[in-house]
Amino acid sequence: MPRAIIVGGGIAGLASGIAFANAGWDVTVLERAPRIEPMGAALSLWPNACAAIARLGILGAVAAAAAPIRQMLLATKDGATILSRPLPDTALLATRTALQNALLVALGPDRLRLGCEVAALAPGRVTLANGELLACDLIVDAGGIRAPSNTDVPPVYAGYGGVLALSGRVAGPGLGGVAAEYWGRHQRFGLFELPGNRRYWFLMRTQPAATAMPDLAACAAAAEGWPSPVCEAIVATAPDALIPFAVHAKPPPKTLCAPGIIRVGDAAHAMEPNLGQGACQGLEDAAALQAIAAAATPAQVAHHYDRLRLKRARMFVRESALGRLGAQGPAAAQFVMRAVLRSIPAALSEPRLRAMHTMPDYAARLR
Ligand SMILES: Cc1cc2nc3c(=O)[nH]c(=O)nc-3n(C[C@H](O)[C@H](O)[C@H](O)COP(=O)(O)OP(=O)(O)OC[C@H]3O[C@@H](n4cnc5c(N)ncnc54)[C@H](O)[C@@H]3O)c2cc1C
Repeated sequence: MPRAIIVGGGIAGLASGIAFANAGWDVTVLERAPRIEPMGAALSLWPNACAAIARLGILGAVAAAAAPIRQMLLATKDGATILSRPLPDTALLATRTALQNALLVALGPDRLRLGCEVAALAPGRVTLANGELLACDLIVDAGGIRAPSNTDVPPVYAGYGGVLALSGRVAGPGLGGVAAEYWGRHQRFGLFELPGNRRYWFLMRTQPAATAMPDLAACAAAAEGWPSPVCEAIVATAPDALIPFAVHAKPPPKTLCAPGIIRVGDAAHAMEPNLGQGACQGLEDAAALQAIAAAATPAQVAHHYDRLRLKRARMFVRESALGRLGAQGPAAAQFVMRAVLRSIPAALSEPRLRAMHTMPDYAARLR
């Protein structure tokens, strides 16, 4: 039985562990943290990610604790629609905790080693910080944007950041499955529905890297005059629920592999969050690897993985960077992007959206 060692127990690492185990490999996931804790609050899992987690066998478990997303909405701070599209296929908004729990159960506790910092990687050999050596047939680097095998191109601050939060139960009506972003000038709010009429929301602002993050009172002040569901979500949020973030990303990767190592998730393709596809692409990596690992020898995995995944991963990194222009770009770019999005006929935007939201049949492409 071939052996894969996976560095990092984030979403991409846990999902890849399940993928290799499903394909009949011996798997160990090494995570440096003493316990798996959610980084952030919640995630949009677009139809391509739902297809990926269905392949991994955990769609039912994830959906049971998530809320459906039925429609995407981009609107101005006054609530005027920029773009609105229904989502005919399954899309979900899940808390990171719920997704991680489903991944952990499917992986199984015996395949995960916590408190294991990886110090060095070489083909077929992983060295832990405590000096222990582990041998394997393939290393999967899932170490995130600062992954140990991908230090040549450092992450760059994208010029914006803010806070995100999970609210308590909101007093107002539900959102009917609408996932919304409201765009002001250099400031935007995102708003998503969770089970129990709770919300996942964020405030993103153009700002220098070292800027202090807003507290709840500053968020409430910033939301004055914006659509009422934004204000209702903020009112239902506890002050200590705010999580600050600063957006970093890397350019599109030239390859997803290094000798003896393949990269998944942010380790491979760290992108800006404007399409909500970072983790979704990590889940697609895992679904593709499940198909590859079931059919190929360890020596062939990297070749097939780059062939199946590189072009699509690069596209998401590029498009996610472009997505910044609508609210965080120069004033002229904001104007042009909004005008284009408003005027683009559904006949043109639908196929593009559909291509993003449809996970390729990776098993079929291997044949
Ligand atoms: C504001 C914001 C909103 C977002 N919203 C969405 C969204 O709605 N949908 C979506 O799909 N994506 C979204 N993303 C992107 C998503 O959060 C990331 O793409 C995803 O979490 C990356 O997961 P990962 O497993 O690749 O990396 P990480 O979550 O960074 O996990 C890497 C793991 O590797 C471990 N590790 C690192 N180095 C070592 C080592 N040497 N030894 C052992 N362990 C190590 C770390 O401790 C960590 O646990 C968003 C991002 C941001 C910033």
